[in-house]
Amino acid sequence: MASAEERLMEWLRDAHAAEQQAETMLTGVASRLENYPDLKARIEQHIRETQRQADLVRGCIERRGGSTSMIKDAGGKMMAFGQAMSGMFVGDEVMKGSIASYAFEAMEIASYRILVTTAEQVGDQETARICEQILQEEKAMADWLEQNLPNLTKAYLMREETPGATAKH
Ligand code: MG
Ligand code: FE
Repeated sequence: MASAEERLMEWLRDAHAAEQQAETMLTGVASRLENYPDLKARIEQHIRETQRQADLVRGCIERRGGSTSMIKDAGGKMMAFGQAMSGMFVGDEVMKGSIASYAFEAMEIASYRILVTTAEQVGDQETARICEQILQEEKAMADWLEQNLPNLTKAYLMREETPGATAKH
């Protein structure tokens, strides 16, 4: 049995590890994108948001008297590195990367919704407010991806049928 306070700390650490993982994954994707400038720019914006989110979550952990888990963060980074690299070996990298990014945002949205509720439950209004703010950034990123997938798909398909053009990234 764990108290709500213990769960809040555990879930904040999970969120911090996920942000570190996201930064590694998104940086890998953005660095290889050449032919999709809108997607690249939005990902680069979200990398900056992600770095700030990691700092904000670490602040919540420390304010509650905890510390971030180096081991968990390092493990997440390795996994993200593997995922980012594995994208290099598929022909439709930009499409697979978009699906993976959308799935990651959905996971973050669920995680921060849970964190807002848990923080409110234990009376930590500052953590609830910060997690609500981060939640809105994750939703904005997921919405942007969903809204831009039709144009991205069309651009991808067109490049794939154009001789000499690179479609994959
Ligand atoms: Mg995030
Ligand atoms: Fe995100």
